[in-house]
Amino acid sequence: MPILRFQALHDVQHRSVDIPKEEGRRSSSYNMNVFGEQSMRQHLPKSAFENVVHAIDKGHKIDRITADAVATGMKTWALDKGATHYTHWFQPLTGATAEKHDAFFEITTDGHVIEKFDGAQLVQQEPDASSFPNGGIRNTFEARGYTAWDPTSPAFIYDTTLCIPTVFVAYTGEALDYKTPLLKALQEIDTAATDVARYFDKNVSKVQATLGWEQEFFLIDSALAAARPDITLTGRTLLGHASAKGQQLDDHYFGSIPTRVLTYLKDLEQECLVLGIPIKTRHNEVAPNQFEIAPIFEEANLAVDHNSLLMDIMEKVAERHYFKVLFHEKPFEGVNGSGKHNNWSLATDTGVNLLSPGSTPMKNLQFLTFFINTIKAVQVYEELLRASIASAGNDHRLGANEAPPGILSVFIGSQLTQVLDELEKVTDGKLSPQEKTDLKLNVVGKIPEILLDNTDRNRTSPFAFTGNKFEFRAVGATANCAHPMTVLNAIVANQLKSFKKEVDILINESSMKKDDAIFNTLREYIKESKHIRFEGDGYGETWEKEAKKRGLSHNRNTPDALEEKISSRAIALFESLGIMNAVEIQARYEIEIEEYIKRIQIESRVLGDVARNHIIPTALRYQNVLITNVKGLKDIYGDDYLLLAKEQMTIIKEISAHIDALHEYITDMTEARKKANQMKLVLKSKSYCKKVLPYINKIRRHCDKLELLIEDELWPLPKYRELLFIN
Ligand code: ADP
Ligand code: MG
Repeated sequence: MPILRFQALHDVQHRSVDIPKEEGRRSSSYNMNVFGEQSMRQHLPKSAFENVVHAIDKGHKIDRITADAVATGMKTWALDKGATHYTHWFQPLTGATAEKHDAFFEITTDGHVIEKFDGAQLVQQEPDASSFPNGGIRNTFEARGYTAWDPTSPAFIYDTTLCIPTVFVAYTGEALDYKTPLLKALQEIDTAATDVARYFDKNVSKVQATLGWEQEFFLIDSALAAARPDITLTGRTLLGHASAKGQQLDDHYFGSIPTRVLTYLKDLEQECLVLGIPIKTRHNEVAPNQFEIAPIFEEANLAVDHNSLLMDIMEKVAERHYFKVLFHEKPFEGVNGSGKHNNWSLATDTGVNLLSPGSTPMKNLQFLTFFINTIKAVQVYEELLRASIASAGNDHRLGANEAPPGILSVFIGSQLTQVLDELEKVTDGKLSPQEKTDLKLNVVGKIPEILLDNTDRNRTSPFAFTGNKFEFRAVGATANCAHPMTVLNAIVANQLKSFKKEVDILINESSMKKDDAIFNTLREYIKESKHIRFEGDGYGETWEKEAKKRGLSHNRNTPDALEEKISSRAIALFESLGIMNAVEIQARYEIEIEEYIKRIQIESRVLGDVARNHIIPTALRYQNVLITNVKGLKDIYGDDYLLLAKEQMTIIKEISAHIDALHEYITDMTEARKKANQMKLVLKSKSYCKKVLPYINKIRRHCDKLELLIEDELWPLPKYRELLFIN
């Protein structure tokens, strides 16, 4: 039988994909399959339409009559577009999206066939979803959770299924998904930010968090991927020697997109557009075969749904292009991994970006207020924010040279640093008219100008201010943005509430003017949060030492990082804001710990199998070739063979040494797993981290050495150069 690797390499050379040519302008297909405002206007009675818009706006419940009207309109719309099924679409704690399709088709008691879909089916569904992770909230024998319609994220048709975004909660009320806490956090930031924004503009009545994610990923040929058990089962390569050429020439970044990839991306973008995902940017990333796409930013909940949907569609569209998408944070050793930058800001219903400096000193004071409060929030909850992006995959990426480290810090650029330095000197108590004028003219008033020529760019800070938004860069490429967004919005909401309280006290009890009270409060925040600001390159030992001195946390791995999630500080935060209770927090923590364990366990098993079933047999086969050769030389040349077979003899011995080491490490790794498996959850995760994971690297070293020794023709797995450079 031919080696799968060569079959795959042959297949790659003969790929051809036909995709329909793009017709018309993109703007005309945008949102075509979305039951958004425009479709609702067309398909709903006026009163129902107004009720829905109002409910979405105010976060109110939708009454039954309105729900029925929406269901009827939605059904007509969907059937006209060829939909046959509907599903509640939700995001359980597996990280993937979930759906269970039901046909509209029904048979009435008197035998007639109809298409049925009413308010009840729109509003609530009961998937028998007992197998989703719930961290012990639900016992499987009473495993009933339900999904409930989230009207703030519009329904859409994918393929022939009407998908209705929903939350997923247990009957006892606990959230079982990512969306529920996110919606609550967004509600909190709305209230808190609106209150503060009203210091500056009484017309503000709503603030939305905005999110613009940037999705990085690798694309490799599906046949090559299928020939690698590690990629198929774990999403990353567990072995593979570095390619002679990697990313050292930097010739991929922003280069021209390979034709086959561009064809895929165009096809993908069309799918995205009809679903209302506003993809705007596409480009090559730093590593070979690594790419990025980014949309125009949207309201955070919608942006989160769109990212989940996108990841799903990317995989589906990839199938017809014979590609496999790798979202893993570190699919290849020695080349850059993939992240998902979360660009975040706050926007008012009066059309103002609160993190964008404005045209007047007053507007800039508003900017500074939100800017400094965000920095302060990150300073107080840096460890929780770090925990929000912890995962087995991201552990490989954080702290590697290209990525932000496991230490949270904030980068704001030298100009804004100067502004904060000036503000730190503001007088304690009431400001003199002279000082105020001076501040307004020379500090606060100058911000837009300095930001215009802000060339300060830093690429590795985990949390950087980039002109009119913060960019949370430490998020991993596989992550569901909901979780980091829940934490970020919660901590900023909490911070803004404290700020409001403090300013009001100064106004009411110390009879300060509003401006004075704000300047005084901000001055203290600048002082208190100074140590979270870091303008250097966010990695390396020097920074680690410095960060330690500053008292910043540095959790290098997921089990350590996750502990902060169940700290009394975190529980108090989420409980006081009504986002999650202690039971939900504990459950989530356990689910994540469990997921971590399973990931390492699977990787360890896969590598053990591959080393024993693929690598060692291949090494033996080649060793036998060499042995036959040496024996032949001996037959012909007698004792002179020793001179003639030097290389062969050396390799024969080296192969034996590597096989020996592999045998030992695989056996020890299995033992380490057995031991870990006896332990309780948290200890088990630490044991997997400290005792099992290191073997994965050790085993890899020997496999990779063998890859260099063994004849190319015999090597069974596609090599790095093939995975990274063929497309
Ligand atoms: P880069 O960071 O690669 O230089 P950009 O700064 O152009 O790229 O923007 C990156 C992302 O930031 C995009 O997805 C964009 O939609 C998003 N973005 C821009 N403004 C905002 C905002 N106010 N709120 C949230 N995201 C934003
Ligand atoms: Mg960016």
